[in-house]
Amino acid sequence: MSKRRRHSPTPALDLIAFDGDDTLWHNERSFRQARDRFLALLRAAGVRLGVDAIDAHINQTEVANIEYFGYGVSSFTMSLMEAAIELTRGRITGAALREVIALAKAMMTEPIELFPAVRETVNDLAATWPLILITKGDLLHQTSKIDRSGLRASFRHVEVVSHKTPDVYAAILERHGVRPERFLMIGNSLRSDILPVVEAGGWAVHVPAALTWSHEHADVPARARRRYVEITSLDRLPEVMRTFAEATASPRQRSYRSRSRAHRGRR
Ligand SMILES: [Mg+2]
Repeated sequence: MSKRRRHSPTPALDLIAFDGDDTLWHNERSFRQARDRFLALLRAAGVRLGVDAIDAHINQTEVANIEYFGYGVSSFTMSLMEAAIELTRGRITGAALREVIALAKAMMTEPIELFPAVRETVNDLAATWPLILITKGDLLHQTSKIDRSGLRASFRHVEVVSHKTPDVYAAILERHGVRPERFLMIGNSLRSDILPVVEAGGWAVHVPAALTWSHEHADVPARARRRYVEITSLDRLPEVMRTFAEATASPRQRSYRSRSRAHRGRR
């Protein structure tokens, strides 16, 4: 344990969870690259529609398919194939569809690239709190990503879930015997990592990624803002842990702290 942390107030938390995609490692970048290559395939197949219209069509298909195939590369691939069939009115060739499948296989196996400061931050936090990873997507792909990230040893558990709703978080917390007010989630998605955790009674740290799928954005009600903070990069996490130390302190500790602050103020 570092000297600095020993002298810093420690938040009253029993469990800290991280999201994986676009929080610990790059993900959306790979989806955007796949879309660009898909666009070239459509052009070769004679589709003349504008890029925005094609993008909107793919997005609509992806969101509609979440209900059937969930999140992840497999679902994305099905959506690209469906969009290709619709946009070419059935004229897409078997060879072009095979290229879409090849795109998916490349996405599934590409190297994991961590964001800056991730390894140090995760290792440092793991020295004080039990950490879990909560991620949605294809089970095989997600477990392979955490294994290949080199971060596996820092996490007590990995939860690959189909959706991130308040009920899903509540079930995870119950399984781990953790009260929501002793739980902190760190992630890039307001819709998946922040709002449902706050609704379940927990705390959250929002780390917006440069690239995030539009589906993951959300409007934040004012009352939810009291339960999470936003940071620009994971290396700011040690600083905000002090904020949570204050927020999660028991009422007795809190009143003691505000009394000492008031005392200092008078001098
Ligand atoms: Mg994410």
